[in-house]
Amino acid sequence: MRCPYCGSLETQVKDSRPTEDASSIRRRRVCPDCGGRFTTFERVQLRELMVLKKSGRRVPFDREKLMRSIEIALRKRSVDPERVERMVNGLVRQLESQGEPEVTSDRIGELVMEGLRLLDGVAYVRFASVYRNFGEARDFRAIVNELAGEAAEAEKRLPDTSASGGA
Ligand SMILES: [Zn+2]
Repeated sequence: MRCPYCGSLETQVKDSRPTEDASSIRRRRVCPDCGGRFTTFERVQLRELMVLKKSGRRVPFDREKLMRSIEIALRKRSVDPERVERMVNGLVRQLESQGEPEVTSDRIGELVMEGLRLLDGVAYVRFASVYRNFGEARDFRAIVNELAGEAAEAEKRLPDTSASGGA
C-alpha cells in the first residue's frame, strides 16, 4: 500500500481489526520513510456497478474516488474515520442492492449529501457547494439556513442546564 504522503511503497501494518459492524477490516499503517500514519479498510465487493454520468458516459463505480471527494469535504473536521467508513459502506450497499447494474452520478451525489448531512454540517455544505455548483448565491444561503434551523431544533431538545447555575 503506497504511502499517501510521500509515495513510499514500504508502509507497514501496525494494527488490524474488524470494524464495529464487522463489515470490514481496519488496518492502521505507518510509513517508515516519512513517519506518516493512515488507515485502510478491506471489504467485500458484492458486484460491479456502472455509473452513468451527466455527459452520457458510463464508467465503473470507483469507491476510492468517491471516498476521496468525501475526504476533501471532511478536511480538518474531526469526524471519526470509522463513521465515515460506515456511511460509505451503507451508501455502497444501497447502490449494490438497488437491483440495477447502473446508477446515475446524480443519485450518488444525493446519497453522499444525505450521509454527510448526518456526519458533519460543514462537510455537507462543502460537498453540496461543489456538487450543486451553486449557480446562485441564494441556493447556498438556503442550505445554510436549513442547517441553522436544524441546529436550533437540536438545541431545543437538549436539557436546559443554563438555569441551574445562575443567581
Ligand atoms: Zn511516507
